[in-house]
Amino acid sequence: MDIHQLTSQLSVSAQLHPEDIEQVVAAGIKTVICNRPDQEGDEQPASDEIRLACESQGLKWYFLPVNPRNFTDRQAREFGALLNAVQGPVLAFCRTGTRCTNLWALSEAGNIDVASIINTASVAGYDIAKLSDRIATLAESNKAEVIAAKETIAYKLVGSHDILIVGGGAGGLAVAASLLKRQPTLDIAIIEPATEHYYQPGWTMVGGGIFSAEETRRKMIDVIPDSVKWYQASVASFVPDKNSLRLAEGEVIEYNYLVVAPGLTLDWGAIEGLEAALGNYGVTSNYRYDLAPYTWKMVQKTSNGKAIFTQAPMPIKCAGAPQKAMYLACSHWLSECRLSNINVEFCTAGPVLFGVADYVPALMEYVKKYSIELSFSANLVKVDGPKQIATFEVTDSLGNKSLVEKTFDMLHVCPVQRAPRFISESPLADANGWVDLDQQSLQHNTYPNIFGIGDANNTPNAKTAAAVRKQAPVLAENLLSLKKNLEFQAIYNGYGSCPLTVERGKIVLAEFGYDGKLLPSFPLWLIEGKKPSTLSWWLKEKLLPWVYWNAMLKGKEWLAAPDRKED
Ligand code: FAD
Repeated sequence: MDIHQLTSQLSVSAQLHPEDIEQVVAAGIKTVICNRPDQEGDEQPASDEIRLACESQGLKWYFLPVNPRNFTDRQAREFGALLNAVQGPVLAFCRTGTRCTNLWALSEAGNIDVASIINTASVAGYDIAKLSDRIATLAESNKAEVIAAKETIAYKLVGSHDILIVGGGAGGLAVAASLLKRQPTLDIAIIEPATEHYYQPGWTMVGGGIFSAEETRRKMIDVIPDSVKWYQASVASFVPDKNSLRLAEGEVIEYNYLVVAPGLTLDWGAIEGLEAALGNYGVTSNYRYDLAPYTWKMVQKTSNGKAIFTQAPMPIKCAGAPQKAMYLACSHWLSECRLSNINVEFCTAGPVLFGVADYVPALMEYVKKYSIELSFSANLVKVDGPKQIATFEVTDSLGNKSLVEKTFDMLHVCPVQRAPRFISESPLADANGWVDLDQQSLQHNTYPNIFGIGDANNTPNAKTAAAVRKQAPVLAENLLSLKKNLEFQAIYNGYGSCPLTVERGKIVLAEFGYDGKLLPSFPLWLIEGKKPSTLSWWLKEKLLPWVYWNAMLKGKEWLAAPDRKED
């Protein structure tokens, strides 16, 4: 009896007889497969006799009989599956060993290329060349089946909603509330991974020692409207042509209408050494919930030396936030008679103090009052926490760039900000990575059933919660008009607001729309937006947080009426 080795796992042979089994065991075989039906030939022993001989020698026995002239692809698959399941080495036998070799060859279709299969069989002493076409055809169909199977597994539909909102931040929640205010029975779902929701405008006040961090935080479950389904998950990609999106774990959710509100990404890692330094060495940022209290700690602790406040390149959310942190710190140091010992510098990547020129004179008054040194076109690129050195790339008036190191005792950093990657790499993005919208209707420029709200929009407004407050009713109204095939009436005028906390107790309330057009919410005799005002401070400290939690997130659209086409 000759044993022909095909692979390290499988050998084949001609008909086995009970007396061959000792040799089989001696060859190290652990499992025997019989591929020959009983009573095929006169000289053939009954398979049961061989089985008993095998089992008496401790070998595993499997009976998988096939017709030599009519063996099926399915039988080949079963053979392959059996090989994968049993302990090797395996010996398969039939009348000559050819049938077993054919079964193995077909079971490998698609795994090994056809020429290698034929060659392996040939080396083992079996010419199966005439099986080449069949192996090739089977390989193709196996490939298609594998792809189909993968797609079936991957296309795991977990939900389907009339309106689907990506992000449960200020924008996602405000628009859900505004939609429900208009039509309480709407089928709305929000996809939001976080368990906590933050009132981010409050972080300036945390850094100034006015609010506690805890006051700016609520449980997500408590701020999502009851009738809205919450998927606690992250969106990974969009398939707008199929009205569906994919979650990070691969599940699919379908929609009729989509609202994109994922905010922006704070890219802390874009500044070398920053992540490692934050929270130590006097390096802080009001742009993070956990760090804003450290800002206040550092403000209290600093009594002399150098304090640097940085501002990253535009666009950033709440463009005034870096200055607000600085003015509140200076206000505290002044009240404690420490400011004269502290050298304060504002290093901004931009060319001006504030983007809307009307507010600059009032801010300059405070720059002078606090003796702040202004450095424009100075972009923070590196922080060495232990040595307390900040490195800036400074661009001069001729466009020449140089690296400038500055030592500090306190460093308040505004991080680099960009569109979330799953947006910028999606078909929803414009060339700069932001959600590509019509700036008046907030409808997507390519996909009519998609809208956007908040910081991820490419609309040229100030990225603020105040902007979201005005956008939510516009978006809700226009989306519902689209559902009824009606023309859009509501217009977003670019409103955004930045309450500049120039000193403790006073604010310059910047309110403006597209192209820097001033859009005051209150009569000028009440609040002169271009000048510091005590009433504006009261708005920021008392009224606006209350409006956020109790009106904006609840569909009560105070200070938010949209402009209309007929206006
Ligand atoms: P966010 O409120 O940031 O919400 C985005 C949500 O999307 C998050 O909950 C996030 O978890 C979720 N998300 C992210 N990725 C995914 C994903 N892949 N899948 C699903 N969900 C996702 N505004 C003002 O009006 N006035 C101010 O005085 C003011 N001051 C500020 C001070 C600071 C320090 C900061 C940081 C911000 C300030 N803002 C201010 C800005 C304001 O907070 C934002 O403009 C506003 O929160 C934007 O809302 P949003 O919904 O676009 O984004």
